[in-house]
Amino acid sequence: MSPAIGIVINLLGVNAVKQSNQKKKNDMGREMPEISSGIPAKLIRYLMLFMLLVLVFLVSAYAGSMKKKEKSRAEQGKGDIAKESGWEESKQEEKARDNSNKEAAEPGTKGTIVLDAGHGGFDPGVSGASGIAERELNLVFAQKLEKLLEEEGYQVVQTRPTEAGLYDEGQSHKKAQDMQRRCAVIEKTQPLVSVSIHQNSYPDSSVSGPQVFYYAQSKEGERLASCIQNCMNEQLDVKTPKKHKGNESYYILKRSVGTTVIVECGFLTNPEEEKMLQNEAYQDRAVSAIRDGILRYLQDTSEE
Ligand SMILES: [Zn+2]
Repeated sequence: MSPAIGIVINLLGVNAVKQSNQKKKNDMGREMPEISSGIPAKLIRYLMLFMLLVLVFLVSAYAGSMKKKEKSRAEQGKGDIAKESGWEESKQEEKARDNSNKEAAEPGTKGTIVLDAGHGGFDPGVSGASGIAERELNLVFAQKLEKLLEEEGYQVVQTRPTEAGLYDEGQSHKKAQDMQRRCAVIEKTQPLVSVSIHQNSYPDSSVSGPQVFYYAQSKEGERLASCIQNCMNEQLDVKTPKKHKGNESYYILKRSVGTTVIVECGFLTNPEEEKMLQNEAYQDRAVSAIRDGILRYLQDTSEE
């Protein structure tokens, strides 16, 4: 601001001199401002310049605030879902809980992969005709996948390593806290990729088959989803193969850093598939297909 003010003040000085010279040349009677309003013309000019300065200041302040808004849009967006539910973890709480530095992958491993077993604790997710809850199957799949990825030399971090959710008991916004903490684990871990494991549901019980979702704005997410979807379709003899699908509203896709996908392993609302999803041999085939999809993606990435 100060150089601009300097220029304006300079102009003011030059202008005043110019105008006083002009005044000498003019007839006395033509000095309208002094005669008509009784306010000296000089004062009016100063007032106008002052208003100009104020205007310049306001415009630059507005431009500055717009820039700031743009910059912090992502950060603000971070708590959207939490805000929708009327709750947001305070920065202090978040820091107190998560005050250690970002975790680097252990030396000797190929890198870290985050697995996120969906739901848990008070939140069962969807449930099948037999009464099996999604949260249980998600954990089984995530733990099986963890083993396979570790065998391949990757370090695995589970957001939900047990049946418990990630929220504090007594918390009235459990779901929001749970979701924020999952994203916090991903942010802290800075993994190669994150894979969230779920089971699907649909009113029409004939619908079946795995489907992988990615954040619609993420090219890498789409690539990872495509690799996993293709491997699952190929290796699980899916009758009606689905295509991987972009999504813009799922919290974990929208709010996690890096490349994240959601793998819906199958439909619990389809009685036949519900049985298969509980069958250990099928679970093993499903997780090995997911592993192959992840490996294919990482292989392609490293070749680029
Ligand atoms: Zn789910």
